[in-house]
Amino acid sequence: MTSVYPPENSARVAGGAKILDGKGLARRLQQQLQQTVDKLAPQVGRPPGLAVLMAGDNPASAAYVRNKELACERVGIASFGEHFPATVSQRELQETIERLNRDDRVDGILVQLPLPNGLDDRELLLAIDPDKDADGLHPINLGRLMRGEPGLRSCTPAGVMEILKDANVDPSGKHAVVVGRSLLVGKPISLMLLGANATVTMAHSRTPDLGAVTCTADILVVAVGKPALVDGSMVKPGAVAIDVGINRLAAAGDRGRLVGDLEFDSVRAIASAITPVPGGVGPMTVTMLLENTVRSYCQRCGIETRA
Ligand code: NAD
Repeated sequence: MTSVYPPENSARVAGGAKILDGKGLARRLQQQLQQTVDKLAPQVGRPPGLAVLMAGDNPASAAYVRNKELACERVGIASFGEHFPATVSQRELQETIERLNRDDRVDGILVQLPLPNGLDDRELLLAIDPDKDADGLHPINLGRLMRGEPGLRSCTPAGVMEILKDANVDPSGKHAVVVGRSLLVGKPISLMLLGANATVTMAHSRTPDLGAVTCTADILVVAVGKPALVDGSMVKPGAVAIDVGINRLAAAGDRGRLVGDLEFDSVRAIASAITPVPGGVGPMTVTMLLENTVRSYCQRCGIETRA
């Protein structure tokens, strides 16, 4: 994308931005979770449990589910996943969720999206006990976020907040710009940044001059799903740039390479810190899922957790 913004935006940060290593942070947080589980499971008499429900044979979903199960195994969370054929009925999924809601061994439940045509994911989400809502997407948990009350938080935005915290970036008093307004990422991250006392601006597909907005951000979070949507000319010098986008390039020579929504090299040259893709926000999403499961386990067992 070509754009002309104030000349000061052409300033370069010496040596380029610091790379915010989400993968390393995820590894450290998962080790801490493993220690917590090792300590608590003998006291409680069982490990935390997560149930991932999947329907159909979408290969990307199958890979995500496998990834989540492996992560559970690493930290000592028991998996109660169920994989249904694409022909499964809404009623069968609903009854499975109701059974898992009553199952004392299960602390977290999530339905892997997208579901095969004809199944209503919204109805299924509503059927999940909000206190077992590992993805933090139930309206009750989104309402708790809106009200600034404790609750299970959606995983990707929570992962972004952990990355900022680990990098000692305090959003208080900063101007945060969030590009993308989905329920999954854009809206909850905006609320979390607002809750952390940032001044928040949201941009989206109908924002006429995206660069004019993004170049005012001290903290820029981009969650759209368009490669190179934001380049260095659209970024304020010294900004912290968080790339949530995941795009698989299909052009010849790219061999399915994964990239984010930021044009990495030009943004790196001007920002003070940047998350890479892969290895930035992605690994934190699954870590926050584990964290939500352990948090719900502690709450259900009457054990205090960190705020
Ligand atoms: P979505 O399609 O639901 O929402 C995309 C948003 O981008 C919309 O709100 C839309 O208004 C906005 N948008 C579209 N075109 C735009 C433009 N030209 N300029 C400004 N805004 C524009 O997507 P989503 O579920 O929020 O996911 C966004 C991206 O984040 C995707 O690439 C997805 O794969 C990725 N993602 C990554 C993780 C992770 O763990 N890293 C998790 C969830 C989503």
